[in-house]
Amino acid sequence: MDWLRDHPEVKTIRVAAADLNGVARGKRLPARHADKLLEEGTKFPYSVLNLDIWGEDVEDSPLVFEIGDPDGLLLPTERGFLPMPWLDAPTALLPLWMFHPDGRPYEGDPRQALARVAERYQAAGLVPVVATELEFFLIDDSGRQLRVPPSPRSGKRRTGGEVLSLKALDAFDQFFTALYDACETMDVPADTAISEAGPGQFEINLMHQADPMKAADDTWLFKMLVKGIARQFGFAASFMAKPYEMWSGSGMHMHFSILDRTGRNIFDNGGPEGTEQLRHAVAGCLRAMPGSTLLFAPHENSYDRLVPNAHAPTGIGWAYENRTAAIRIPSSGPKARRIEHRVAGGDVNPYLTVAAILGAALDGIEDRLEPPAPFKGNAYDQNLDQLPGDWGAAIEAFDKCTEIRRIFPEHLVENYLMTKRQELHYMAELSDEETVELYLDTV
Ligand code: GLU
Ligand code: MG
Ligand code: MG
Repeated sequence: MDWLRDHPEVKTIRVAAADLNGVARGKRLPARHADKLLEEGTKFPYSVLNLDIWGEDVEDSPLVFEIGDPDGLLLPTERGFLPMPWLDAPTALLPLWMFHPDGRPYEGDPRQALARVAERYQAAGLVPVVATELEFFLIDDSGRQLRVPPSPRSGKRRTGGEVLSLKALDAFDQFFTALYDACETMDVPADTAISEAGPGQFEINLMHQADPMKAADDTWLFKMLVKGIARQFGFAASFMAKPYEMWSGSGMHMHFSILDRTGRNIFDNGGPEGTEQLRHAVAGCLRAMPGSTLLFAPHENSYDRLVPNAHAPTGIGWAYENRTAAIRIPSSGPKARRIEHRVAGGDVNPYLTVAAILGAALDGIEDRLEPPAPFKGNAYDQNLDQLPGDWGAAIEAFDKCTEIRRIFPEHLVENYLMTKRQELHYMAELSDEETVELYLDTV
């Protein structure tokens, strides 16, 4: 509220919550509703968070419709009101999450799912420290073409082209200045920006947070903000996992370590390899990986990213300082010893991704699980078990996965399966171009 009180010029409010795909769903209200919203929240039908925005087969949605699709209660998150600097009229955003009308958390809400995992850490006296790295393409919206140039003539996939190009950053300098200003006013802690491998592809890292909910909220807001600022500049920003077959895709890597009650990093033993706790956490992530791939690669297009030789993982393995691995232990000073989980694409729901990774790591630690030996060299040449190769296989692996059901509430798992099966059914009828059209600016 504080921010809004200091800004009487704001006449409009947007309230919004993240659906299962991470898409913001909400309403527009006059600013005079501010106090009432903070006190009482608002209501959406439960189905808003459960069905994809293209969901049409409502008769296949028994979980929601057999009870008549009533309203859930949406309450403000601790973030309160935030500015939306990409809109012309001064507007405040109030992020929300869903509860039952009697005040119990609604188990189908992805943010509530992360809160559950965060509570498990708290109960164990542990604090996860989380940072996400977001890759995205800037695209000429009018022609649905890359702003900057063409596919390589050889017809071979390229992966290294523009990495760390200063020229590419310079070309978008005004955009980045506006973006960093917006991050500042929204309290989204943007750190370094680089040009990534594809033309018009960039990466921005968010600062690590000793609060997984803050890290996930930051990520969700960041995606909304990047798309908004891009639209202000007359182009689109896309977090789609693989918009161009010829160029590398866009990932959402997650780095994390875990602190104990005294603030000590439990992965750090002073040496480069880290502790047995680190190994247990890695083992937990590897065990849950086939089943959680659906959350890291939630759309049909996500599977185009998970191909060899594009710095994206295909095999289920881990390695030290190795960007071909699904799980990389970066070289760092011992205090910063951490895990980089590299499977998620830019198109994920950040709440579900952070929950899946942290939940799997904690399960591994609780079970004192040992991982296989870390591999050396190129992951694509190793004899590793493979990630599910397509959307359908990932849906089935998710359905069968006991680890998933240990991390997430049954209701969310069932709704997620229903939503993904509907999307699979719907997408099967679309051409590649129609799929790009649908996803480009949405996920
Ligand atoms: N773009 C790669 C991906 O799809 C990651 C490149 C990197 O290592 O930053 O995940
Ligand atoms: Mg990168
Ligand atoms: Mg990375």
